[in-house]
Amino acid sequence: MPEGHTIHRAARDQRKMLAGQVLAVSSPQGRFELGAAQLDGQRCEEVEAYGKHLLYRFESGEALHIHLGLFGRFRKSKRKPDAPLPDPRGAVRVRLVSDSHAVDINGPAICELLEPAGIERLTARIGPDVLRPDAEPARAFARIAKSRAPIGRLIMDQSVMAGIGNIYRTEILWRQGLHPDLPGRALSPEAFERLWEDAAALLAIGVKRNAIITVDGAPPSRSRYRERVNIFGKESCPACEGPVERIEIDGRRAFLCETCQPAPDVSVALKKVSPAA
Ligand SMILES: [Zn+2]
Repeated sequence: MPEGHTIHRAARDQRKMLAGQVLAVSSPQGRFELGAAQLDGQRCEEVEAYGKHLLYRFESGEALHIHLGLFGRFRKSKRKPDAPLPDPRGAVRVRLVSDSHAVDINGPAICELLEPAGIERLTARIGPDVLRPDAEPARAFARIAKSRAPIGRLIMDQSVMAGIGNIYRTEILWRQGLHPDLPGRALSPEAFERLWEDAAALLAIGVKRNAIITVDGAPPSRSRYRERVNIFGKESCPACEGPVERIEIDGRRAFLCETCQPAPDVSVALKKVSPAA
C-alpha cells in the first residue's frame, strides 16, 4: 500500500505531464470505456491528491478519481507528438495522453468518473491531509479530542487525518514521544499541533525525495539505502539504545520504544473521560 507521500508525488509529477493540456483518454482494457469517452478531448485542469486519492480535474467540472489500492500502478512515458503510442502493457484501465506524455493506470482499486457533487462528497469524507496547504488540522483534532481510540489508530484513520501511512505512523509517534495506546482524548492540543507539524514536514520531505526519511540531519555519505528511519524495523532505539518493541496495530506492523514513548497513565486518561466520577 503506497503511503500518502507517494500519491502526492505522483500528483506532482503528473501535473507537469498533463495539466493545462487537452487529453486523449481511453480504456485499452475496456473496463472504463464510458468514463473515458466522457473525458476524452477535454482539457485537464489539475491533478491533485487528497490523502491516497488522486483527482484529475477536467474543464467540465468532472474528475477522474483514482485510488491505487494494493495492486494499482502508474506507468508514465514521454512521447513525441507524432510518434505512435507504446502498446498497453497488461490490463491498462485508463490511458491519459497529452502532447508530451502518456500515463497508463493499471489495476486501481477505484477508477471512476465523478461529477462535481461526487467530488465534494469524496473530499468531505477524507480527513484533512497533512500535505495540503488548504487542510484544516482543527477538523482532525476535533475528532481525536473526543475519541477513546488509541492515537496509533487515529492518526492512520484516513477519515480523521489523511496522509500518514504505516511506516510514518511508527516514526512520528516515536519522534513525538507518544505511546501508540494513548487515547485520543488524552492528547493535548499542543501535542497534536506538534504531531501535525512533524507529519507535514516529514511527508513533504518524502514527496521531494520520493523516499521515507524520518532521520534528522544530512545523509551519511554513499548511503546504500534511500529510506532512512529511526525505529521502524530496527532492533534498538537510536535515542536511548534500549530495545525496540514490535507490536501490531489493526493487523499492521508497528514499533515502539517504551522508554522514549512511556505507556499512557490510564488513570489520568480515565479521569479526563469522566470528570464527574
Ligand atoms: Zn528509546
